[in-house]
Amino acid sequence: MIYFVGAGPGAADLITLRGKKLLEEADQIIYAGSLVNPDLLGWAKSECVLHNSASMTLEEVTECFITGEQKHWLTLRLHTGDPSVYGAIREQMDRLRTLGFNYEVVPGVSSLSAAAAALRAEYTLPGVSQTLIVTRTAGRTAMPEKEDLASLAAHQASMAVFLSAGLLETLQQELLRGGYIPATPAAIVYKASWPDEKIIRCALKDIAARAAEAGINRTALVLVGGFLDRDYERSKLYDPGFTHGYRQGGK
Ligand code: SAH
Repeated sequence: MIYFVGAGPGAADLITLRGKKLLEEADQIIYAGSLVNPDLLGWAKSECVLHNSASMTLEEVTECFITGEQKHWLTLRLHTGDPSVYGAIREQMDRLRTLGFNYEVVPGVSSLSAAAAALRAEYTLPGVSQTLIVTRTAGRTAMPEKEDLASLAAHQASMAVFLSAGLLETLQQELLRGGYIPATPAAIVYKASWPDEKIIRCALKDIAARAAEAGINRTALVLVGGFLDRDYERSKLYDPGFTHGYRQGGK
């Protein structure tokens, strides 16, 4: 059996209970070494076989899956954050399906959530934005034409940008070109939930300069939008005058 497990954003105790239990039981762990906290591997059995996938190809990872199945092992594929966000798990799952192997996915806490927690922010504020756009800058992976950053920026919704800490000049230019005003509040969260976490809050027009000053060019999320500002409307859900399935309003 093969489990894809979300390791969480960094802090070892942000893995799920299910993920931790599987770590303790695994006979083989293939972990994304560039971003997974090595402390998590401390929960593995002493005889557990460890592979750092940072230097491996999909073919080599697949070989490990095959070896594990031949030996009737519990194989754990440990991905940073939540595996469904830029995790490259689909191509692995498709190989497993072709090979006829059973697998399951255990979700994790994405850096999307950890960055908001670090900022004590909420992406979805009434009267500000009820939409969160999760995207990236085009790197070696191209962006689909209909999703170019400027067109996404036109919505002026809350936005979280992955995989772009090394491309902040382009990001800033594209977001401004698309319609966010230069003073739109923004934040850069470097290594959310790690001991060396850093937070920068600034206007969108300054993100590239401020990140350069702080020496941040990787492992960061860029967040943009009015949700980082002070103004919003209170929620209907907790408004005394609002009736819903669990509460009669008017009190
Ligand atoms: N599956 C992961 C994302 C993997 S892509 C998740 O759910 O978080 C790698 C990118 O995620 C990095 O370039 C960075 O943009 C972001 N990232 C991962 N861990 C992070 C962290 N602890 N703090 C800030 N950004 C992080």
